[in-house]
Amino acid sequence: MRKLAPGRLVLASHNAGKLREFSALLAPFGLELVSAGELGLPEPAETGSSFTANATIKALAASQATGLPALADDSGLAVAALGGAPGVHTADWAMRPDGTRDYAAAMARIAAEDGSARRRCAFIAVLVLAWPDGHSEAFEGRCEGHWVAPPRGPQGFGYDPMFVPDGTALTFGEMSAAEKAQHSHRARAFAALAAGCLRTD
Ligand code: IMP
Repeated sequence: MRKLAPGRLVLASHNAGKLREFSALLAPFGLELVSAGELGLPEPAETGSSFTANATIKALAASQATGLPALADDSGLAVAALGGAPGVHTADWAMRPDGTRDYAAAMARIAAEDGSARRRCAFIAVLVLAWPDGHSEAFEGRCEGHWVAPPRGPQGFGYDPMFVPDGTALTFGEMSAAEKAQHSHRARAFAALAAGCLRTD
């Protein structure tokens, strides 16, 4: 597995919530994170049918546009009673016709469509590191839990207020960033990436 040298790393995302979370996770590794949004990079179409395929598309596009290594994340919520939906379409479920996001409506749709008693769901994240020569490495993290309605808590972003990870009674929306990182799919995928590709010496 290829190691990432200290220096600049492009985060292939325009999402401010993800930039905050990754900046905190990468701080100990001597990596300076610059976002695709800051660099004015276009967002490639996410045409893959899996989280890994979409994260790879984003990481390779950002790396090849900048000549720097790039990190991309593709993530979403998989609801058991909905056969894993919204899955790779998690962001789309929140999209309004004018291009803005309405997460309250997306969370209400999940509550309306999932008639199961157990309300099982999982957040899944795949992180891909890509280098300008086209090499890439992928890492998956999952967080199992259940959804609640109405959503609870002002913290975090996206679907955080409806998701309760197993082993707690709080939603991600009711947790601090540090508490969320103890459970989150993205933090788990990041731990695997750090073990595989980041230097601690
Ligand atoms: P992506 O940017 O294509 O990965 O979109 C993922 C979708 O899942 C977006 O709608 C996010 O808001 C949602 N999502 C991913 N991770 C989280 C999380 O940690 N909390 C809440 N929502 C999330």
